[in-house]
Amino acid sequence: MTKIFVTGAGGFIGSHLCRFLKNKGFIVIGADIKTPEYFKIGDICEQFYTADLRKIDACRQIFEKEMGIEHVYNLAADMGGIYYINEVRAPIIRNNALINLNMLEMARIYDVKRYFYSSSACIYPSFKQTEVDSPDLKETDAIPADPEDFYGWEKLFTEIACDAYKKDYNLDSRVARFHNIYGPNGTYKGGREKAPAALCRKVACTEDGRTMEIWGDGKQTRSFCYIDDCLEGFYRLMNIPAKKYVETLKKYEILGINIGSDRRITIDELADIIIRLSGKKITLQHDISKWQGVRGRNSDNTISKELLNWEPKIPLETGLEKTYKWILEQCQKTGDAK
Ligand code: NAD
Repeated sequence: MTKIFVTGAGGFIGSHLCRFLKNKGFIVIGADIKTPEYFKIGDICEQFYTADLRKIDACRQIFEKEMGIEHVYNLAADMGGIYYINEVRAPIIRNNALINLNMLEMARIYDVKRYFYSSSACIYPSFKQTEVDSPDLKETDAIPADPEDFYGWEKLFTEIACDAYKKDYNLDSRVARFHNIYGPNGTYKGGREKAPAALCRKVACTEDGRTMEIWGDGKQTRSFCYIDDCLEGFYRLMNIPAKKYVETLKKYEILGINIGSDRRITIDELADIIIRLSGKKITLQHDISKWQGVRGRNSDNTISKELLNWEPKIPLETGLEKTYKWILEQCQKTGDAK
């Protein structure tokens, strides 16, 4: 049975991925600088290493101990939502570049058969996202580059590093560009949370009949993809024949594939759905001094549909219902729910 190494296994997507792969019968080895907060290690992997992957010796020790790793899913990253990636610059660049270069080098040295890298919609140029209804982002839009934040620049750099390792060392590297993945068992407070989790928490912690703060004017648009759809999408990406993947990259002259939803909604609409789910009456109050990111962003899924025969299936309302329920439970446990 294939031995798979997942980095970022203590985080949101990584811990869900470990469970997904374990349920498929793979031998799953996880690593992260922190242990998973919302899953039991034994439920998601065979072996879990608490390791700082910025340190190449820590990476090497894992590969030495776990001889025969065939696939790597590299999801470890210093990351967060709109607040975090705008307020933190140099540490994000340094930490993520170190992790990503270390993992590529390990994949080369230990002869990994397939390598996955989780890139982001943040690599797309800001000048293509200036209107609430800017055209959906196609993979070909990435270059010429102008990502809005440092996080996006580092992601793009690592996409290029994956391409270099493919060309020079024949590493079968595959890149997905995630567009706002959400779901239960992820960060929902503390400053690193992303919009869906932050809004679920705010709704859970706001009294019926009161107001709730929204960052920006609420008209900015995004799309949101439920975790189960995301996992299925990038698992397919890792499992199509290498030739088919490389031919697609060559045909379109691209570095990675969009994995996201193409249902564009405003942040106000997102908040309204969650408020409806809560059964409360909450009024939105906008604070335009807060970070709101690009004006409009949506995923164009033409290539992912063609290549992977995949598109998200779980309606936003269904995914948000599950996410809200879980976050409400967390807020009830801490006594913050209203
Ligand atoms: P997350 O923050 O929950 O998970 C990332 C994990 O990486 C964390 O558990 C963190 O502890 C770990 N990590 C950070 N520094 C480390 C280090 N030095 N050594 C070892 N582990 C370290 O984030 P996530 O939402 O699960 O994202 C997973 C990947 O997907 C990341 O690469 C992220 O950039 C990418 N991504 C996520 C989204 C999204 O919407 N969630 C969108 C685009 C891209």
